Amino acid sequence: MAFNDRNTKRCSFCGKTDTEVVNMFSAGSSHICDKCVVYCYEMLMQSSQAPLSGAKPTKSERGSENKPSVIKLLRPNEIKSTLDEYVIGQEDAKIALSVAVYNHYKRIMTPYIDDVELQKSNILLVGPTGTGKTFLAQTLAKILEVPFAIADATTLTEAGYVGDDVENVLVRLLQAAGGNVDAAQRGIIYIDEIDKISRKSENTSLTRDVSGEGVQQALLKIVEGTISNVPPSGGRKHPNQEVVHIDTKNILFICGGAFNGLEKIIQKRQNTSAMGFGSELKTKKERALGGIFKDVEAHDLVKYGLVPELVGRLPVITVLDELTEDALVKILKDPKNAIVKQYKKLFEMDGVTLDITDEALDAVAKKALALETGARGLRSIMEKLLLPPMFEAPANQEIIKIKVDANSVTENKKPEYEYGKRPQSAIKKA
Ligand code: ADP
Repeated sequence: MAFNDRNTKRCSFCGKTDTEVVNMFSAGSSHICDKCVVYCYEMLMQSSQAPLSGAKPTKSERGSENKPSVIKLLRPNEIKSTLDEYVIGQEDAKIALSVAVYNHYKRIMTPYIDDVELQKSNILLVGPTGTGKTFLAQTLAKILEVPFAIADATTLTEAGYVGDDVENVLVRLLQAAGGNVDAAQRGIIYIDEIDKISRKSENTSLTRDVSGEGVQQALLKIVEGTISNVPPSGGRKHPNQEVVHIDTKNILFICGGAFNGLEKIIQKRQNTSAMGFGSELKTKKERALGGIFKDVEAHDLVKYGLVPELVGRLPVITVLDELTEDALVKILKDPKNAIVKQYKKLFEMDGVTLDITDEALDAVAKKALALETGARGLRSIMEKLLLPPMFEAPANQEIIKIKVDANSVTENKKPEYEYGKRPQSAIKKA
């Protein structure tokens, strides 16, 4: 039932009462307000024009701050299977994110069910660098077609200090939404390196800590939900400046961090304190498997240095696995926009075929693994490897194939070329 008392009708979609809207349409015990009718109409119109349409503003919407944006509610399995097309592995994180995002947008559409207020579930991604934390958040925003902004927690300061005001993140989100406030208010903000703004110890609070606890408190305000007055073009606020009000209540915050050393806190709690030579080895091995991190609890994060209130606002904690050599090879060749596919396309534009052996991909993955930067090292290794042919092939019309084998990677040898006649069409384009 969608009543809060016998006489009050409440919209079954947005929860507004009949006194808060212009029109309420009823059928039995179900009600829908005029605003939701318009939302539904727009959703139908958009889905008949573009299959994955969402809150992304159309060109005509840009700058129209009051126009409501529309969200296409994808089910968790649909979100997960689209994530699968881009992100390799990280099954637990993908499932947790899909469910959290589904619930989040369901909640935006129906903030009350039978007077039960659905609360926001922001997400914390814990995992080593280069394992796809940012990429997951970015891909999610792309799938849902909602505005997306990234902030690096280490560059943030409390308002008034030298650095990037926490509120500037909202400015970036508003810019990503093309100035559409309504769309920005339903966007996703990714805050990277949240672990780097932990306070020094659990009990430090007497001295002002500009980049640590103070920033956490400032972040907490926008994560919890506040109406923030932001200058639309960013920068510091000053009197008489034009400001835009952004309600952060429905913005989904995804925070990420590597949390180096958190495993010791978890272990200590579990009473398997890492002491002695043997247990040190076990720590490393288990960490590689993401073992200990999977047991993380909110209190461990507080011990690590996040303020309890902020931890409380990040109820979905999910752990990303360290990427194995196998996963790195897959990242090179499998995703929709895989690195190898991208280079193949680049060469194809010149009428040149890029032939890269499986052994060469294994060698690239091994090299990246040694760098300990997850998948981040893959592109720079590939770029270095393919720089000579990318320079020479456009100038030499006789090169038709670039052959990359394991030697090219392990011994830094220039890839071999095959010569012949290029297709006429490719020569013309080049
Ligand atoms: P993190 O935020 O965890 O440090 P990123 O998300 O920035 O790492 O990853 C860097 C890049 O590596 C991404 O842009 C993406 O291209 C690639 N990448 C990382 N992890 C994955 C993954 N699991 N699947 C596919 N690509 C990945």
